[in-house]
Amino acid sequence: MANETTDVLIIGTGFGGSIPGYYLAAGGAKVIMLERGPRFSTEDFTQSLRVGTFNRFIDSISGKGIDVTAGNCVGGSSVTYYAASLRAPSFIFERRGTLGRRIWPKAITRSSLNHWYSRVEAAIPVAELSWNDVPYAGGLFAAACNRAGHTCQPVPLAVDLTKCTNCNWMHTGCVFDAKRSMLFNYIPGAESFGAEIRPLHEVQKIQPAQTAGYRYAVSYLEIDPNDYTQSLGSGTIEAKIVIVAAGTMGTPVILQRSALALGGMPPAVGRYMSANGDRVSFAAFDEDKVSSLLGLQRSPGVAYEAFPIGKPINTMTFDYLDPKKPEFSRFALQQLYSPPIVNALPGVDQSPFWFGIDKRGLLLNWRSWMAIVEMTEDANEGVFGPPPKTGSFTRLGPGIASGQLEYPIAPQTQHGFDLADAAAESILTLDGLATFHTVASTNSIQCAHPLASCRMGDNPGTSALDDRHELRGHPGIFVTDGASVPTSLCVNPSLTIAALAERASSILLKRANQYGVTVKHSGTIPVPS
Ligand SMILES: Cc1cc2nc3c(=O)[nH]c(=O)nc-3n(C[C@H](O)[C@H](O)[C@H](O)COP(=O)(O)OP(=O)(O)OC[C@H]3O[C@@H](n4cnc5c(N)ncnc54)[C@H](O)[C@@H]3O)c2cc1C
Repeated sequence: MANETTDVLIIGTGFGGSIPGYYLAAGGAKVIMLERGPRFSTEDFTQSLRVGTFNRFIDSISGKGIDVTAGNCVGGSSVTYYAASLRAPSFIFERRGTLGRRIWPKAITRSSLNHWYSRVEAAIPVAELSWNDVPYAGGLFAAACNRAGHTCQPVPLAVDLTKCTNCNWMHTGCVFDAKRSMLFNYIPGAESFGAEIRPLHEVQKIQPAQTAGYRYAVSYLEIDPNDYTQSLGSGTIEAKIVIVAAGTMGTPVILQRSALALGGMPPAVGRYMSANGDRVSFAAFDEDKVSSLLGLQRSPGVAYEAFPIGKPINTMTFDYLDPKKPEFSRFALQQLYSPPIVNALPGVDQSPFWFGIDKRGLLLNWRSWMAIVEMTEDANEGVFGPPPKTGSFTRLGPGIASGQLEYPIAPQTQHGFDLADAAAESILTLDGLATFHTVASTNSIQCAHPLASCRMGDNPGTSALDDRHELRGHPGIFVTDGASVPTSLCVNPSLTIAALAERASSILLKRANQYGVTVKHSGTIPVPS
């Protein structure tokens, strides 16, 4: 027997959940949003990596061959993300991958998505960086690119530049309200129209509803805020429309667990997962060479020690995103700051290894390290195994989990990695500027941009959703998060996830009455706070 009813039940409060939550509430629907993680606000964030701080809202999930990092709080991964906000290149939407035909639905092209990208850029809002806003690390990467004959550009960021202090602590939550996460736009907008957000409510399963006029019953566990492995209660809410936006790592698991009760799932649920072609590498700089490249004076061998100043992502080169190049050979190279995490990484995949004098020397010079993110085209080779008894994965400790995802690197993906590694290495090692290292942690793939585990498409065999984000065979269930994005994007994905969620919301507003939900389409983007 259901405890309560609502028009729209949304699972997850990241980009994919907050955006439809805002529009449906603004249209007059009764909206309840269930979020597995806690709710934090600015005063709760700490610039600390201690256990019990940031790992209360970030999970590192280890699968087979892949480690994925994702948010676990109201606002989802937008609370921990680095705010790089880029439109995907046009050629991405024409990708054929290993299918041999266009992967994206016919209804979506880069030009048709531009309208939705613009709305998100205004709602968040996204700032264009001038070169005066680019700190040392971004400038050094740009100088290295320039000397190697490549262009390099500042990266647009969802950051209020007037509030940003360049403290470089985005991943632990911004303590200056400068990062424009969902906590500053769509979520307060949804709440201003009466949407109810319930943190520490972890959805387990969707079943058919019992009450006339309602389609689905969504069951959840109330999570103990002091120990996420324990539950304090449970409940069920019946809804006319269910939006699953539990993220790429959460959405397929809920649907897999619901398969029996709902009479089956499309075969693409939990398959074709993409790691966005993410690959992390490092350059360890020779400070004397840096000095001559930048024309800056410093005592011999002394690091500038300026990497910690700035924002984690500042510049990137688009030179390798040539639409004329064959698929699996196009990629972006982006400068990234992550030394505190780098220091903890178990190893690099070429000499020097984790043990030994060479590795010790390398670690001692970590202040001279720059991380590079390579975003390539992968082959959607990720597959989720059977779901755990409860939750999205098995929690092993604070912020650490073991997941069901397996990611066997396909030869096409490896080809892209090899080309991207070679390009990054050639830029960074020119004239002995730096030594180049790729990461070999416990797993081959370090992914912060998981996508496509319940993707859209035109072919029912290889896509779980139709081009309106509706789950095939289950009218009234929609997926609007990163899981719905069909392919890797060669850029950071949040703006594309958000643009697709904007588009899906507009379609939902027009179709809600088919499911018994009365809404008016105001179409106004939220006012940023
Ligand atoms: C450290 C880091 C840095 C990043 N930097 C960038 C960047 O600079 N630019 C960029 O574009 N992207 C970046 N990303 C990626 C980006 O943050 C994500 O792609 C995006 O936020 C995903 O949005 P989403 O709505 O799909 O999922 P999420 O934001 O992950 O939201 C899913 C939500 O669902 C909740 N949930 C999961 N399971 C359940 C359940 N069973 N019941 C209830 N709730 C559930 C989760 O707790 C979460 O809040 C970064 C990610 C990380 C981790």
